[in-house]
Amino acid sequence: MKWSFSIARVFGIDIRIHASFVFALMIGAMWGLEFGQKGVAFGLLFTILLFACVVLHELGHSLVAKAFKIPVREIVLLPIGGVAQMEKNPEKPVHELLIAVAGPLVNVVIAIGIWVAFGKTLLSGIDLKALTSPQSVQPSAQALVFWLLTANVSLAVFNMIPAFPLDGGRVLRAVLAMFMGFSQGTRVAAGIGQFIAILLGLFAVMTGQVLMALIAFFIFLGAGRERAEEQARTVLHTLRVGDAYNKFALTLAPGDHVSRVVDYILTSYQPDFAVLQGAQLLGVVTRSEVLQALATDTRDLYVAGVMNRQVEKVQSTQSLDDTRKHMEQKEIRIVAVYEGERYLGLVSLEDIAEALLVSTFVERQNQLRKMEAAA
Ligand SMILES: [Zn+2]
Repeated sequence: MKWSFSIARVFGIDIRIHASFVFALMIGAMWGLEFGQKGVAFGLLFTILLFACVVLHELGHSLVAKAFKIPVREIVLLPIGGVAQMEKNPEKPVHELLIAVAGPLVNVVIAIGIWVAFGKTLLSGIDLKALTSPQSVQPSAQALVFWLLTANVSLAVFNMIPAFPLDGGRVLRAVLAMFMGFSQGTRVAAGIGQFIAILLGLFAVMTGQVLMALIAFFIFLGAGRERAEEQARTVLHTLRVGDAYNKFALTLAPGDHVSRVVDYILTSYQPDFAVLQGAQLLGVVTRSEVLQALATDTRDLYVAGVMNRQVEKVQSTQSLDDTRKHMEQKEIRIVAVYEGERYLGLVSLEDIAEALLVSTFVERQNQLRKMEAAA
């Protein structure tokens, strides 16, 4: 993630802090300001310990994911919480369930740990009123322990709300997926999540809680995004890469000059060109390579000199979903489509996005036709 820097490496996972995390520290420090230096130190210490608990929560998800052979690249700390970046989705619902539960479970364990270690001291001579209202609480070791305990219980409870993108939403989807499949399960879980978000939003507006309203809004968006991603996966899963390449693409010979590519780019909307010797693919020239050649060399070069020879091969029967995943993992934009040993054409990430868009509209039209026929 941009604007983040590494602070530690645990079990091969990069722990990073986003620059905006400074705001969380500032809020912590500002809270303690009225109590002087001691208050500021207290506010900072509480914020740091709270986010340490968030890191442990994310590590809980990550370690269970790794146990199921899902690589975890990094954990990023933002002022609103932590994010563990996993390289793929769990294949089995039970895996997703266990990964999702592991995070909140860590907070439960921490809360129990705090209670076992300090419960007696907390209870003796406790002034609950002073501890629970932030205005009257004095910075003390007792307050710190009490707040950390409350924070961990809240983290566990809040994250188990059954709405995407919270952990509870994933648990709900996993359980539904066991009975109705992943795709239908996601749709139902996203619907329930948005319903909860609306209820939460209404409650927040009626009681005038700005932060809660904001959280409800993010949950609503997150649920919608999860549903859209699932729809994309389903559509792209049914399409083959052999259906998505441009059958009428302009091609080049190795002896063609860059000026010819410039002509092609200006007169067609094609951004990538295959360089062919007979029926054999030698390499690919993209728009950006042409622009670079024009910018750095005054001569009219041969395309063979500027083309990219390392082109990833895929078979035409492979699904677009798998192809997209493959391209994202290798960080490439273009693949060459083959039928056995025979070269067919090129497919780029933009072509896949286009295929998704078109088939979504075709699908919608089919549904409209069905509704018209039924009416
Ligand atoms: Zn979580």
